Amino acid sequence: MEKFSLINKGEILLWNNIEELKKLVDKVDSFFKNFPEVFEDSISLSREIKNIILKLDPFIELYARKTCPKCSNICCLNKNSRYEYDDLIYILALREEFPVPDRNLKEKEPCYLLTEKGCKIPRYLRPLRCNWYFCSDILKEMEASPARAFREFSNAFNRMLYLRQHMLNSFFQSLSNLKGLEN
Ligand code: SF4
Ligand code: SF4
Repeated sequence: MEKFSLINKGEILLWNNIEELKKLVDKVDSFFKNFPEVFEDSISLSREIKNIILKLDPFIELYARKTCPKCSNICCLNKNSRYEYDDLIYILALREEFPVPDRNLKEKEPCYLLTEKGCKIPRYLRPLRCNWYFCSDILKEMEASPARAFREFSNAFNRMLYLRQHMLNSFFQSLSNLKGLEN
């Protein structure tokens, strides 16, 4: 099997070479498509992560709706929303389409996924750095929420991060098992 050297855990995907990015997406996608039984755990963990994000979504939306319309800051910029390799693995493990930009992107431009009606993709497909980012205004509102609601949110968020790490470890373990099978 060809050496799989395109993935470096935790690195940001560079948007300045869309052709290389497309090759990477196809490569990772082919693992899940051709060897679903080898990557079974990663696939199942990615679904758990998605379900947690779906549960977190209404809480985050509530405070974003209260805060963002009054804000003049533009935080949906490419530089704040870049996907990492880890996000790519998670999205493809879910068997969803990875949102490849149609051109090379510049850091200071508005995020390529931003439309007049807001973000065009559901929260569970957004980059972790985007879902993870809570500006101080939103955070202040969240912290003022009922203690139990905030605690549940915080626990669920930490659980999602834990599962994500678990899913990535499982992916890389499966990848080395696959190499072992093919040698
Ligand atoms: S997330 Fe924070 S900084 Fe971004 S638009 Fe909303 S209130 Fe403004
Ligand atoms: S992915 Fe969506 S929420 Fe995140 S920066 Fe881009 S438009 Fe904004």
